[in-house]
Amino acid sequence: MARLTQADLAEINRTFEERTPQELIRWARHVFGERLAALSSMQESGSVVCHMLHSLKFDVPVLFVDTGVLFQETLDTRDRISREYGLRIETLVPEKTMEQQTAELGILYLTPEGQHQCCDLRKTQPLVKQAGRFDALIGSLRRSDGGKREQCPILAIDPRMNCVRINPLVNLTQEQLDAYIAEHHVILNPLHAQGYSTIGCNRCTTPVLPNEPKRAGRWRHLGPWSVYCGINPTDLDGGEGAPAVEFPIELIDRVLGRATDFVI
Ligand code: SF4
Repeated sequence: MARLTQADLAEINRTFEERTPQELIRWARHVFGERLAALSSMQESGSVVCHMLHSLKFDVPVLFVDTGVLFQETLDTRDRISREYGLRIETLVPEKTMEQQTAELGILYLTPEGQHQCCDLRKTQPLVKQAGRFDALIGSLRRSDGGKREQCPILAIDPRMNCVRINPLVNLTQEQLDAYIAEHHVILNPLHAQGYSTIGCNRCTTPVLPNEPKRAGRWRHLGPWSVYCGINPTDLDGGEGAPAVEFPIELIDRVLGRATDFVI
């Protein structure tokens, strides 16, 4: 096994800036084969990724984390996308129900520290349990969403999952996303049409007003201190130690597009 770092990905990330989302997904399928999955929370960008997988006819599993306190509309969107796009959606669940967690730890989401713990237990850990199954995960982050995502790379190292995160939509503007959705009649979570610009758990998500930032409806009760759940490593402050993964050297060669004849 050898180390692949975020710095190693700098050059390929630079060349990928001109690629379309579909080209990036095709590349991912070619390089990672059966060790590729997608991650979607059934919000609009995730729906677009699901539609692209469907139209490319790629049988790539889609991981979906059900925290146990999602909106029914989100679960219905998952079921519609699975049925109508013919995708294999794997629903991941936390170890404990919300009732069990609350009985043991109290209502965590009422404080910024508790939110981090609750999101870790109910969102991040169910995904981290899958570490080792996949070498790459397709996500749906976009730079035009602002905040931490303004700097999001196309390929990002995920040390917790020991995989590469691929963000094929990273350069799509909201206008381009809307145009794709309209042209292809993409299945959308109906809550978007009710003022929810982003959608998470029903305990921690509210609609936003037209003049508010896109993520203002997330953890509104906690003020400006809680913005992300932490399931995406590029949303974390400072990451978690050295940003590197361990891959077989042959896989690193495929990712970086190089052939290694010998090692000095
Ligand atoms: S969004 Fe709220 S309820 Fe959902 S996991 Fe995070 S803190 Fe818990």
